[in-house]
Amino acid sequence: MHRKTIAELSRELSAKKISSLELTQLFLERIKQHDQKLNSFITVTEDAALQTAKMADEKRKQGQAGPLTGIPFAHKDIFCTDGVKTSCGSKMLDNFLAPYDATVVRNLKAAGTVMLGKTNMDEFAMGSSNENSYYGPVRNPWNLEYVPGGSSGGSAAAVAACLVPGATGTDTGGSIRQPAALCNITGLKPTYGRISRYGMIAFASSLDQGGPFAKTVEDVAMLLTAMAGFDERDSTSINEPVPDYTTTLNNPIKGIRIGLPKEYFSNGLSNEVAKVIEAAIKEYEKLGAIVQEISLPNTSLSVPAYYVIAPAECSSNLARYDGVRYGYRCKNPADLQDLYKRTRSEGFGSEVKRRIMIGTYALSAGYYDAYYLKAQKARRLIRNDFVEAFKNVDVILSPTSPTPAFKLGEKVSDPVSMYLSDIYTIAVNLAGLPGISVPAGFVNGLPIGMQLIGNLFGEAKLLNIAHAYQTVTDWHQQIPEGF
Ligand code: GLN
Repeated sequence: MHRKTIAELSRELSAKKISSLELTQLFLERIKQHDQKLNSFITVTEDAALQTAKMADEKRKQGQAGPLTGIPFAHKDIFCTDGVKTSCGSKMLDNFLAPYDATVVRNLKAAGTVMLGKTNMDEFAMGSSNENSYYGPVRNPWNLEYVPGGSSGGSAAAVAACLVPGATGTDTGGSIRQPAALCNITGLKPTYGRISRYGMIAFASSLDQGGPFAKTVEDVAMLLTAMAGFDERDSTSINEPVPDYTTTLNNPIKGIRIGLPKEYFSNGLSNEVAKVIEAAIKEYEKLGAIVQEISLPNTSLSVPAYYVIAPAECSSNLARYDGVRYGYRCKNPADLQDLYKRTRSEGFGSEVKRRIMIGTYALSAGYYDAYYLKAQKARRLIRNDFVEAFKNVDVILSPTSPTPAFKLGEKVSDPVSMYLSDIYTIAVNLAGLPGISVPAGFVNGLPIGMQLIGNLFGEAKLLNIAHAYQTVTDWHQQIPEGF
């Protein structure tokens, strides 16, 4: 039962083969049994989950159930959850009980999901390996010596290990797609503005976007349908109608044009990963897709532009953690300066401090034009590359990450090599586009993800094309041994 997809569980619930209460108990049991190894949850809300499950069963009895009613679910600990600890992976918010639900949490609650708890993550979503969490690293269920990717590594590992059938993540530069790839699950970063950021703790506001993780594209489509939509409380949320994304999954893809950016298949890409992606391309050709090489000439600017813009925005967003309003406060401050200084020195981890320092520098008077403004100009060039590319193709295909998962500790002392894990995902955030990672094969027992990038608000087509691949392959059905 625990290996089933959300769509399958939903059918089991409708057919009364299992109740939501039983399903919830089963997954809570799995968390107890396996999460000591993985460390994928920061908080488990057992009592509330059992309560919600009973209510879901009641709703079903009354004939009021939707497709997600009674489905166990988890939220990345970056989403505010009313009355439940929302730590963002940081000591700074270790004592923070959110006073309200994020819109995404509210939407998924309204759709009937049963929250089992909050998942581990890199502190303030900064990282690619989940080693920056105050709560310790998450381990990859495919090999416990390896990282699950980050920053949404807890959600990805929990879904991959079947501790929960679906979870939320956030993606500022790759944090949904990269851990999905490294853990062999499906993860979608929607178009910027498709999903409300209200109640989603801010890292870099012009890049952050929430999205779903699950085993299959079909499940992700179900989740997106429930999560997406306009929210007047998020000024960057866009008022576009939300279709039922599950209804177009099986549209024919014959004749669809797939672009392969030549810059994404050059140096830095591991040969083994390249082979896996080449095999995936062949599958698409068999399905009748027209594959052509394209160019995104400003690709080399994306990592440098991101590592100015993201830290700049984070330095501003994280100014609010001052020990005055909420969160951590240092003991016995001598005066206000001392309160700020010690609260922030003691409350933040080293990667967060590194970003705040870079960002503050880049925004300071005299340097703003040279760094932040310049990076924004580079961002426009990157965006224009995609505008050009989408004149000729429907979707862009690439590896999600240049290598499979790496060993815990391997890159912690080398931030630049860590930053390069996101070399194929970052441009998508800079351009505001939707991107998805789907399982595409294995190298030495470690999963490899394929990324598909769509045009703005092209989620329906993107999911359709990604789903077609899952109808002819079974990589997404592989479950790590022991789980
Ligand atoms: N790994 C990237 C970073 O460290 C992206 C993180 C994210 O998408 N939240 O910033």
